[in-house]
Amino acid sequence: MHCPFCGAIDTRVIDSRLVSAGHQVRRRRECTACQERYTSFETAELVQPRLIKRDGSREPFNEDKMRNGLVRALEKRPVSTEQVELAINDVKSQLRATGEREVSSELLGNLIMDKLKELDKVAYVRFASVYRSFEDIREFGEEIARLGDEKKINEKGNG
Ligand SMILES: [Zn+2]
Repeated sequence: MHCPFCGAIDTRVIDSRLVSAGHQVRRRRECTACQERYTSFETAELVQPRLIKRDGSREPFNEDKMRNGLVRALEKRPVSTEQVELAINDVKSQLRATGEREVSSELLGNLIMDKLKELDKVAYVRFASVYRSFEDIREFGEEIARLGDEKKINEKGNG
């Protein structure tokens, strides 16, 4: 995006928020050449950041791929399609709200895991086991045990 004051290409995003019910991103930008600040409005669909994979290669964000991963983790679990779509929209909003051009694929994975944790613990463990590629089965067991503890704490809290 060109600076409207000096035409420089290199600008820094200093604030980024979703507007128009999430269809647009309003950004405050600062030109790195002349330090002038200005506001830009960008169509949300166009500003989904690219993903930096673990090996350093980049790939465009792929909604279908994310949906497939979620659906596979949620197989035979009591979670509706609508809940899945809401989760997907929420993850996309959070990605856009970073205001970054590129984010690590790890960040996306963590956003998805947070969503699954809310939706269904079993699906969360399924997804996490694949995504984090647990070092060994002990680590995987610890994760399940930790979820069990959380459940106990929640039950105590509710009672
Ligand atoms: Zn400028």
